[in-house]
Amino acid sequence: MASLSKSRFQLGLQCEKLLWLKCNRPELADPVTEVQQHVFDTGTRVGELARERFPGGVLIAEDHTQSARALETTTRLMADDPPRVLFEAAFVHAGVFVRPDVLVRVGDAWELVEVKSGTRVKPENITDVAVQMWVLEGAGLRVRRAHLMHLDNTYVYQGGGYDLRRLFAIEEVTSDARAWLPAFPELVAHMLETIDGPEPVRRIGKHCEKPYACAFFGHCHASLPERPITALPRVSDELIAALLDAGITSIGDIPPFFPGLTAAQRAVCETVRRGTPRFAPGLQAAFARLRHPIHFLDFETMMPALPLYPGTRPFQQVPFQWSDHVLAADGALTHLEFLAQPGPDPRPKFVQTMLEALGEEGSVVAYHASFEDSRLRELADALPGHADALARVRARLFDLEKPVRDFVQHPELLGRSSIKVVLPALVGTLSYDDLGIHEGGTASLRYLQCARGDVSAKVRDAIMADLRAYCATDTLAMVELHRVLQGEEAA
Ligand code: SF4
Repeated sequence: MASLSKSRFQLGLQCEKLLWLKCNRPELADPVTEVQQHVFDTGTRVGELARERFPGGVLIAEDHTQSARALETTTRLMADDPPRVLFEAAFVHAGVFVRPDVLVRVGDAWELVEVKSGTRVKPENITDVAVQMWVLEGAGLRVRRAHLMHLDNTYVYQGGGYDLRRLFAIEEVTSDARAWLPAFPELVAHMLETIDGPEPVRRIGKHCEKPYACAFFGHCHASLPERPITALPRVSDELIAALLDAGITSIGDIPPFFPGLTAAQRAVCETVRRGTPRFAPGLQAAFARLRHPIHFLDFETMMPALPLYPGTRPFQQVPFQWSDHVLAADGALTHLEFLAQPGPDPRPKFVQTMLEALGEEGSVVAYHASFEDSRLRELADALPGHADALARVRARLFDLEKPVRDFVQHPELLGRSSIKVVLPALVGTLSYDDLGIHEGGTASLRYLQCARGDVSAKVRDAIMADLRAYCATDTLAMVELHRVLQGEEAA
């Protein structure tokens, strides 16, 4: 007979086909990426730290493969004089199995605390709490209040151990969670039937990515063509459904006046149908304000959930690496870079070396420059002695993404302008394929592993080499893209 865990219940709320696949065809799931695994590991780490907020709590230590034993241990502990605080206690009701992160006994009632590694309460967190509340009350416990405990991104780490009262925020969500309970008997019964029934028919749509990226995304989207309708900019579920009803799965097959297309979507369809790139008049003029030496600058940052350096907050962006390809007026290209040795706060040396490299002359080109601009502003706040110099760098910034967005129509872009999409489309000579790191999320995660001392010296050295190659490729990509957009051949 089917049963549900808390996490499977959440999957069922997102998509019944997802629930069915998870229970019946788990082998079809996409492989877990390094970045996704990091998110899971961060949740575990934060959950363990959160327990320290409740001294004297008793942990039901059986893992997720030992559900029956976890239930037995919980029943034994609850029998006479239950501990005041229980971690990971196990309960089952009507086929639903839950293990609340924290239960606090208050007289003959209990308070439920669900720990999240994010920094705010999200709608999906409420159903997460609600299903636990429903099971606990069904199992005979009186639940007085329910809370979400999450990281507080206003907490500024002072060094040493964390001040757990300030690192975590606790928000009561009792009434929001309780509002869901009347719907649960029917919802749960339907999900249990779904698990035992045939594979549900569910179309792809926004729910494939929200609230969580579906683990079966690849499986359900595998039959879509190279330029699928789901890649249209800001495509709605209604438009996807209307296109599928019309038998259309490829952007190239969308008729020009298909109802419901926005102007931006129509432009993408037209570009795909035309099949050739188009550079709108005014592209060259967009670069008129660039001054040599042109610094093509890129930052890499990490966002530790648990702050590593005094003066930083949970999930604060901490820059640790920059790369600067410098294009002189005579066409000479030089490369400068900085990558902080893992250990102390990287920001002081990052700023000092970057200011030396940039000097006071020439334009500073970044791709999606609002990111670099925000980091420069934050660095000025953190290091006020450099605030004036950093303000002058901000005044020299030029966003290379803007001319791409404003003037370039290309059948490969589909309205997107991220450098990882633009580069292969416009600069075929340069690629990230042979690098050890292919995108910023992995760069961030690998440096964090070095900064926390999670890897051996040998692995750390390999990561540092990969990071150098990756960040240098980002700035060289901008140089080549600038050449192409100016009408020159890529080197
Ligand atoms: S990819 Fe979409 S349709 Fe397929 S199981 Fe996941 S959420 Fe459901």
